[in-house]
Amino acid sequence: MIDVIVAGGGPTGLMLASELRLHGVHALVLERDAEPTRIVRALGLHARSIEVLDQRGMLEPFLALGQKYAVGGFFAGISKPWPGRLDTAHPYTLGIPQTTTDRLLAEHATEAGVEIRRGCELVGLSQDEDGVTVELADGTRLRSRYLAGCDGGRSTVRKLLGVGFPGEPAKHETLLGEMEVTEDPAAIAAIVAEVRKTQLRFGVVPLGDGVNRLVVPAAGVAEDRAVPPTLEEFKQQLRATAGTDFGAHSPRWLSRFGDATRLAESYRNGRVLLAGDAAHIHPPVGGQGLNLGLQDAFNLGWKLAAEVSGWAPDGLLDSYQAERRPVAADVLDNTRAQMELMSLEPGPQAARRLVSQLMDFEDVNRYLIEKITAIGIRYDFGEGPQLLGRRLRDVGLKRGRLYELMHGGRGLLLDQTGRLSVAGWSDRVDHVVDVSEELDGPAALLRPDGHVAWIGEDQQELLSALPRWFGAAVS
Ligand SMILES: Cc1cc2nc3c(=O)[nH]c(=O)nc-3n(C[C@H](O)[C@H](O)[C@H](O)COP(=O)(O)OP(=O)(O)OC[C@H]3O[C@@H](n4cnc5c(N)ncnc54)[C@H](O)[C@@H]3O)c2cc1C
Repeated sequence: MIDVIVAGGGPTGLMLASELRLHGVHALVLERDAEPTRIVRALGLHARSIEVLDQRGMLEPFLALGQKYAVGGFFAGISKPWPGRLDTAHPYTLGIPQTTTDRLLAEHATEAGVEIRRGCELVGLSQDEDGVTVELADGTRLRSRYLAGCDGGRSTVRKLLGVGFPGEPAKHETLLGEMEVTEDPAAIAAIVAEVRKTQLRFGVVPLGDGVNRLVVPAAGVAEDRAVPPTLEEFKQQLRATAGTDFGAHSPRWLSRFGDATRLAESYRNGRVLLAGDAAHIHPPVGGQGLNLGLQDAFNLGWKLAAEVSGWAPDGLLDSYQAERRPVAADVLDNTRAQMELMSLEPGPQAARRLVSQLMDFEDVNRYLIEKITAIGIRYDFGEGPQLLGRRLRDVGLKRGRLYELMHGGRGLLLDQTGRLSVAGWSDRVDHVVDVSEELDGPAALLRPDGHVAWIGEDQQELLSALPRWFGAAVS
């Protein structure tokens, strides 16, 4: 019996499997595609995802291959400077193609002991009291204690479970591809500037070596978006939109994407969980989907591991949906708002001007950036100090940095009093006695995902907070 089967080896599934391995859980990733895709969807990581990678000691290769941008413009493309005093040690966006992100996550997962089986498509599942039986396209059957559906927006797992996916269907479709062009770069830039005055779903970005990333509206909405456009269809749309196809040729890859917005009705059905695009889809404005999926995995990993290991308190696994579904609902809403603000109709344009003026107030600008970067998230842990439920930024300690102490994925008590104890939980929670000028409180109990579960200095209070997240004490 495998502990956890993860269906889908995209960023969400790979991150989840790595998190499970930190706790010794046997994780098997089943990926339908025999080879990694060449299609580059996401182009970057936001602050919270960068923090997540840092918390697990995974950030270095991403920084080495990515490019830091301290730019605004992530809310509906409204260009404003980043607000000052952002509550993060990583106040930048990391430009990095999704194909690189996927590769680095797969390498990390493999090093952590995750088995990734490519060319394995999940086509069936059934569950009982003890586990889940998964059926693959070649007829193989596998059995696991839990199954995580991280199999993307058209999730087979979600459909097999019969979980509803309500929302709005795609109204627009956009073609995306990388190809060479014969047109001179200066002429292309002039045409792009002109066309974008009335069509924001159009762009040509040079990638070097004569290759460009082109985006253009499709003629309609395809019945099967998994079928890529032909080069001829792409050129036809370029001519229809810009009056020229720039002499496009030699495509590296071509794809299409829509603007459907949907949220799974439930993230859990018995022993099966959904995460990433399998649980939520929305237009790519603000560059949030991959980030959201990584953070779903970061929330789910330690909880599922606790369940498999047998120490999960009642309700811990269900807190995954309780915490993450509202976050996704909020992202869906901000993408809906951004799409409205990007319409060229007079009403939305007036609203855009107003939002742009409001963003000149630094608090408004910061509020929106905290949304897009996900550093403003506060889970509902009940009444308490402002930090309760928020993730703690990477604060400096006398002995170094907080995040350096969180690579193992365990809970952590950061104790500035030196008088507290986690006896009974020391197999699950590290006790760090140190001081930080950046921590607003005598001591903080952090969950493995860095969210603040308790703040205070009273041992009795701590003793009632520990079981809620880390289960019963052991002697
Ligand atoms: C044009 C575009 C631009 C984007 N830009 C950004 C951006 O800048 N920032 C950002 O954060 N997000 C962006 N996104 C969104 C981002 O690409 C997705 O949110 C992200 O890939 C979701 O990751 P995932 O692992 O949940 O799903 P996926 O990446 O879709 O991975 C799912 C995996 O499951 C596999 N699979 C599917 N079915 C099965 C099955 N039955 N059995 C086994 N395996 C299966 C698939 O082959 C795939 O590898 C963009 C999306 C698009 C379309």
